[in-house]
Amino acid sequence: MSGERVLLVTGGSRGIGAAVCIAAASEGWRVAVNYASNRQAADEVVRAVEAAGSAAIAIEGDVGSEAGVTAIFAAVDAAFGSLDGLVNNAGIVGPPQRIDEISPERLDRMFRVNVTGSIRCAAEAVLRMSTRHGGRGGSIVNLSSIAAVLGAPGQYVDYAAAKGAIDTFTVGLAREVAAEGIRVNAVRPGIIDTDIHASGGLPDRARDMAPSIPVQRPGTAGEVADAILYLLSDKATYVTGAILNVSGGR
Ligand code: NAP
Repeated sequence: MSGERVLLVTGGSRGIGAAVCIAAASEGWRVAVNYASNRQAADEVVRAVEAAGSAAIAIEGDVGSEAGVTAIFAAVDAAFGSLDGLVNNAGIVGPPQRIDEISPERLDRMFRVNVTGSIRCAAEAVLRMSTRHGGRGGSIVNLSSIAAVLGAPGQYVDYAAAKGAIDTFTVGLAREVAAEGIRVNAVRPGIIDTDIHASGGLPDRARDMAPSIPVQRPGTAGEVADAILYLLSDKATYVTGAILNVSGGR
């Protein structure tokens, strides 16, 4: 094991997560690239990390299931033997639906992946990072959304509520583990140009929304990754419990 720090990025195979993995590599992090099903995309991110001069592994696992979370952390332990950073990035939306159309199954999945998954991954990370458990400290960044503030009416109030839970969790966990060497922060992306909009049935959403964004354009995955890398880094050693909007003014 080298002295380089180890970062786990959930949902690191595409979009914002992939951008975080690649940016982290150039800052010297070794990277565990979690993915749900797209092995090819995860392998491409691993190759990009290696091309940037660092080491990476791809780890399959659904953060919305307890078995998935267990498998992800077992793979990190086996490959690297330590953990210094976690980016709780894996997240899902659904097709635009009003409250009277949202099924109980959709609601359950929305919260299991976006909320329970992030909280369970944070818990496993704390077990490995906290000085209380013999760890050397670390940093956690959670992916919220500006939807947590705007509520996403008529689109996905369930998703927005899940991200609101992430905001509250970020503040609480930050205070809970601050004296144990762990910082916990969140970013709230606005409209970012990734596949997530197509997964919700709106492939042109980022472009269509541009006129309503104060800066008049969607953000890029790299722009969100830059904010996340700052929060992970030693440039942010006095920043914890913060929630940073990366939303072009939205
Ligand atoms: P994306 O392009 O749809 O990518 C999602 C990533 O998460 C993929 O790597 C996917 O893996 C993985 N994933 C999905 N479900 C998973 C699960 N159950 N377990 C493990 N991995 C899972 O998403 P994105 O736009 O980059 O969004 C990343 C985060 O930012 C999410 O939390 C999202 O809510 C948040 N966010 C995004 C925007 C935006 O406009 N894009 C705005 C606000 C907040 P596979 O490749 O295997 O499918």
